[in-house]
Amino acid sequence: MTSCSIVWFRKDLRVHDHQPLVRAAKSAGPVVAVYIFDPKEYEQTEYGFPKTDKHRAQFIRESVEDLRANLEALGVTLLVRHGDPAAVFHHLSQKLSIEEVYVHEEIGSEEREVEGRVRKQLPDASFTVDHGHNLYYPSDLPFDIHDLPDTFSQFRKRIEKAGTMVRPALAPPTRITGLVLPDDLEEGDIPSLSELGLGELEREPRYKGGSSQAKERLIDYMFTKDRLKVYKETRNGMLKEDDSSKFSPWLANGCLSPKVVYEQIRTYEDKHVKNESTYMLYFELLWRDYFHLVHRKYGDRLFYPSGLRDVTVPWNENEAHMEAWMKGETGYPLVDAAMRELSATGFMSNRARQNVASFFTKNLGLDWRIGAAWFESQLVDYDVASNYGNWLYIAGVGNDAVQFRAFNVEKQAKDYDPDGSYLRYWLPELRELPTPWIFSPREMGMVEQEQYEVVLGEDYPLPVVDLYESMQRRKAEFLGAVKG
Ligand SMILES: Cc1cc2nc3c(=O)[nH]c(=O)nc-3n(C[C@H](O)[C@H](O)[C@H](O)COP(=O)(O)OP(=O)(O)OC[C@H]3O[C@@H](n4cnc5c(N)ncnc54)[C@H](O)[C@@H]3O)c2cc1C
Repeated sequence: MTSCSIVWFRKDLRVHDHQPLVRAAKSAGPVVAVYIFDPKEYEQTEYGFPKTDKHRAQFIRESVEDLRANLEALGVTLLVRHGDPAAVFHHLSQKLSIEEVYVHEEIGSEEREVEGRVRKQLPDASFTVDHGHNLYYPSDLPFDIHDLPDTFSQFRKRIEKAGTMVRPALAPPTRITGLVLPDDLEEGDIPSLSELGLGELEREPRYKGGSSQAKERLIDYMFTKDRLKVYKETRNGMLKEDDSSKFSPWLANGCLSPKVVYEQIRTYEDKHVKNESTYMLYFELLWRDYFHLVHRKYGDRLFYPSGLRDVTVPWNENEAHMEAWMKGETGYPLVDAAMRELSATGFMSNRARQNVASFFTKNLGLDWRIGAAWFESQLVDYDVASNYGNWLYIAGVGNDAVQFRAFNVEKQAKDYDPDGSYLRYWLPELRELPTPWIFSPREMGMVEQEQYEVVLGEDYPLPVVDLYESMQRRKAEFLGAVKG
């Protein structure tokens, strides 16, 4: 049997800044790459929707296609399989003598469980696992992971005070000795959405997967459009593509290394301008690192109803409220616009995410884990640590020092979408409403409803809860639970 090394790609769909690939290039034998579509990732959750729905699935499909082309240019074949990873590696071990497996570390328990089963199939192969998803390596931090501060600002101060360095991003190897595939081993096709058990997309994907697209967006946002210099002022916008970087789909799927973004920020600062906006983009990447470290420190506590706190918060069960939230039919325009945007495109701005998550937990009082699972299903940029970490934070059971923080979704819409253009874009039934009414159609009397031809309860839903009363009730329940 032919001896070889394998680079196993998971959430690192790129060839730049890829330590496992660099290591494999230096290894003695020929190299082959593997990507596996694990059916478990596409199964229905206990809540009745797919764990990975079509938006992210399509993004991953495109990213794998791009990865295959980029590896081909380096002389390496990417084998694509659809099946249980342990079974796939078992099958490969019948055809190839696998000496080494190079892989990036995944901190999620599901990924580690799968990796454990794969290792059992390859008892004679050596595994080399590298860190590669963040700006900072855990071993470079000025503290042990168990001493990670429980607030972001303490974490940031510790990093900045210690002057912790971001290691340079690695260039891709120029040439690798690729394995010549034996006749009975096929490259394998990328499964279609229907083969993954998912429905077809109803519109063109908003973001195209692949590290080639990631680089295009990076250059376009920072240099061609020169948007980085105003990032701080625009980042809370909800409608325009260039309000924020939109790097997250590529960062989350590993098509883009955060170290490359960091280096481009520094280049931009040298060539253009260094200001609060350039610092702010670094600051947001640091939030990403922070949530990854929180996950590393707390493991599966990230998924507990009580999160990182020792409180038992009573979460409500209400199917109708849940449905209304998911479909964007709560009667609160900001929540509805954002939830419809999520279903249609797999994306939502950070400002909108904060609001819909706050409404879910602080007005509807629903179990935050179901909201997080819906985000996991729909988001093209889903990342376990960032998603669950942010949900915990908003639900009040994570890394927020404030006891009870809730967003007023009507005030937020006025503050961050003052002309109502985001609301009108996603809520066609409210398009003709003049600005004061678009923020709170619930306040329209019969005269206005007739005048603007929006009948509440028919053309647009009546509010599912009273905004103020629900928040006050929730606050009392929550603080009661905290006091015990
Ligand atoms: C409830 C909730 C769930 C979220 N789920 C995810 C998720 O699954 N995946 C994800 O990548 N982000 C998540 N975020 C964080 C944030 O909303 C997105 O990263 C951001 O909206 C992506 O848009 P952007 O790339 O234009 O961000 P920018 O504002 O341009 O920020 C640049 C990058 O910094 C990182 N970043 C920014 N804000 C955060 C943050 N609060 N937490 C972690 N990283 C951040 C992202 O990688 C982002 O691409 C969530 C936020 C909330 C409130």
